[in-house]
Amino acid sequence: MGQFWEYFLALLAAYGLLCIVWPPILWDRRSRFFQYIRNEESHMDLKEALDRLDELQRQEYAYDAGLSALYLDGDTVAPRDTAAGRGLAVSVLSGEWHRKFTAPETGELLAFLLGRRDELDPVRRRQVELLKRDYDLDARIPAEEYMEFAQLTSDAGDVWKKAKAAGDFELFRPYLEKIVAFNIKFAGYYDPNKAPYDALLNEFERGTDMAFLDSFFAALRERIVPLIRAIGEKEQPDVSFLHRHYPAERQRKFSDYLMEVMGLDRAHCGIGETEHPFTLSFNKWDARITTHYYEDDLASSMYSVIHEGGHATYDMGVRDEYQFTRLSGGVSMGVHESQSRFYENLIGRSLPFIKAIFPKMAEFFPEQLAGVTPEQFYRAVNKAEPSLIRTEADELTYPLHIMVRYEIEKRLIGGTLEVRDVPAEWNRLYQEYLGVDVPDDAHGCLQDSHWSGGSFGYFPAYALGSAYGAQMLKAMEGDIDVWGPVGRGDLSGVTAWLNEKIHQHGWMMEPADVVKNACGPFDPNVYADYLTEKYSRLYGL
Ligand code: ZN
Repeated sequence: MGQFWEYFLALLAAYGLLCIVWPPILWDRRSRFFQYIRNEESHMDLKEALDRLDELQRQEYAYDAGLSALYLDGDTVAPRDTAAGRGLAVSVLSGEWHRKFTAPETGELLAFLLGRRDELDPVRRRQVELLKRDYDLDARIPAEEYMEFAQLTSDAGDVWKKAKAAGDFELFRPYLEKIVAFNIKFAGYYDPNKAPYDALLNEFERGTDMAFLDSFFAALRERIVPLIRAIGEKEQPDVSFLHRHYPAERQRKFSDYLMEVMGLDRAHCGIGETEHPFTLSFNKWDARITTHYYEDDLASSMYSVIHEGGHATYDMGVRDEYQFTRLSGGVSMGVHESQSRFYENLIGRSLPFIKAIFPKMAEFFPEQLAGVTPEQFYRAVNKAEPSLIRTEADELTYPLHIMVRYEIEKRLIGGTLEVRDVPAEWNRLYQEYLGVDVPDDAHGCLQDSHWSGGSFGYFPAYALGSAYGAQMLKAMEGDIDVWGPVGRGDLSGVTAWLNEKIHQHGWMMEPADVVKNACGPFDPNVYADYLTEKYSRLYGL
């Protein structure tokens, strides 16, 4: 849910809005070097520098808000043939911001403030460090290469759609080959001292690398593969009532109710309808979520609303004083997913929560849910079955879909797998991990948009988020009574705990420190324990 936008917003964050267009400005590193030298000789006033720092961040917020509003409009209410004018506005605005951000004055300001870092309070120091990190990254990627990459991924997106529709990998192959080559090159710019795939992983979830993920995934696979096999022997629950006719108009009212249960303040959080659900937060006082109503599938929108509501709850919980600065919003894709999946799976797919909301649900859909018990509903929305498509996978089999992608990315970027061998390797891994035969590439290696968008190293964040969430729940259960209030439909204690441990901090800490702060050192066994316990109970193992 929201994958495209999450990926897209991650790119925005990673490149400081430059993924849309990279204006043809060649940066002269030598001149910037001399800027630093000159700067050390000059005596900028600290107060004046801090004022300029505030102004720089306010401007970044303003450009970001303007661009986000254009995207939101384009994806929600804009008429069909209106993209061209928005595209022009987006390219001018992002080019304008890029010029401001990479101007010599910005480098001078950040260098000056870093030179006086001991005099800065921790919030200012963190802001300067984050801005400097992006500033340096922008300078390391040559502008002409970035422009070429932007053009390539724009073309690859169209080709990927056609290749997927035709189930024809060969069409997409030459583009993927170039995208892989670019990623290997960019990895060298991000961090020449790291293995290329480690450098890419670090851009999406700072602090993660292959050593960490190899042991995480191995530990997980060892536990969940036998579990999935055992479930395969058992009878599956009846899910037919989830696919009765659920009119969109009723589902809209049901969404309002779900947002109310989640404690989302509707004066500050809107809901719209899009092809793919996503969350876009301008600031903590203005968050937007979207969903998609399928009239033959109640669970789809229900869990989209809860998932995106979790993302919005995170963004809306960051401290007031961090708004309109680099510290607002969620710190990484992994931590963001930990929050959305916390509400969606750990709470939303729990029996106490379903029992709490079921009477109201039966009022919205009296005929559709006639004769259905909360327990039957709980079993239906937790049906576990190996499948082909990641975005439709259940909570238990989902991480295996991620592992297939991780293995392939690792080998492609590491140079031990050729792009032409991706389909065969994909199909082999789906058989090995999930026991399913892939009928064609549309249902196989062409199903996700991430690679065509140029993104390698993103997928693990989804699985990490789920694992962080399970560990957070365990810590939360040690601190407060989680299930008593949830069983009464009261999520305020859950949200207050998450706010204190995670939300309020925004970007103030690194992702790994946020997780550690909330629930101690990362332990993949907690996630495996949670899945084992839940699904053993569901399937009577
Ligand atoms: Zn999400």
